[in-house]
Amino acid sequence: MKALTYFGPGKKDFIDKPKPKVDKATDALIRVSKTTICGTDLHILKGDVPAVTEGRILGHEGVGVVEEVGEGVKNFKKGDKVIISCVTSCGKCENCKRALYAHCEDGGWILGHLIDGTQAEYVRIPHADNSLYHIPDGADEEALVMLSDILPTGFEIGVLYGQVQPGQTVVIIGAGPVGMAALLTAQFYSPAEIIMVDLDDHRLEVAKKFGATKTVNSSDGKAVEKIMDLTDGKGVDVAMEVVGIPATFEICQQIIKPGGAIPVLGVHGEAVDFHLEKLWIKNIRLTTGLVSTSTTPMLLKTVQSNKLQPAKLITHRFTFDEMLKAYEVFENSAKTEALKLIISNE
Ligand SMILES: [Zn+2]
Ligand SMILES: [Zn+2]
Repeated sequence: MKALTYFGPGKKDFIDKPKPKVDKATDALIRVSKTTICGTDLHILKGDVPAVTEGRILGHEGVGVVEEVGEGVKNFKKGDKVIISCVTSCGKCENCKRALYAHCEDGGWILGHLIDGTQAEYVRIPHADNSLYHIPDGADEEALVMLSDILPTGFEIGVLYGQVQPGQTVVIIGAGPVGMAALLTAQFYSPAEIIMVDLDDHRLEVAKKFGATKTVNSSDGKAVEKIMDLTDGKGVDVAMEVVGIPATFEICQQIIKPGGAIPVLGVHGEAVDFHLEKLWIKNIRLTTGLVSTSTTPMLLKTVQSNKLQPAKLITHRFTFDEMLKAYEVFENSAKTEALKLIISNE
């Protein structure tokens, strides 16, 4: 089968690989019908995730059809259409019992990381019963690819950890796919203002269409002043950090109101300054985390009832043979205006 394969920092190819097999009784083999590329895949390709070894098939998002199941799989059978969760979970260990699937003792984020991933014709999914979700009849499968990772990440790590409440002022720093997912799902709670911050005017325009009430282009280095002006000098209730660099975490610390929350969603590669000398007295909450995808069933219902329209995030579509072209478009998203793309193998 063909698969997008990592060969060390800066090196990838779309090559023939052996078709995976059901290895353990709890495995399922999935024929991938739609997948996508994530910012995390680009981090891996830069060499930022050294746990990924040469020869690894990338990808942790997608939907597909069950091809075969191990004898221990009870919830799925051949022919079932499924959403593949980016997080694998046994459902039985101590962390899974707390719905902290991200830290499953025999799973977590392993797909396209420690085991072969979804940018392939077939993928082996361990602990299938707890790591796959049924696709309802007639559902828009492209939209459901957004449920593998970005929607639960934006919702769980941004909106739920930030405890977004009606009437609040929320800032989201970073208008990439996860920032946009946080923007869409924050609206479940009717905040009064959602201010989107990014360097890219096109993404800010898109954010307005998705429900941002105000936007700030931070490329002049004046994001803090602009946000304080927009909030009459009061600051914000929730400041989501969705970029992953010290500068954006700094902005969050300067704009947070007493009693506010700073949920960190960005993937941070270096140490940051934490201004405890100013924040110790401000009753703030700082949270971090990897998504557990425990809210996927709930998010699926909101998509089915049209309360949430994740298909809006899809900007480009490719056939499976165009995998390398899809990477090129995603890697140049500032020019190509790509948010999420769909790679189909029908
Ligand atoms: Zn992802
Ligand atoms: Zn577990």
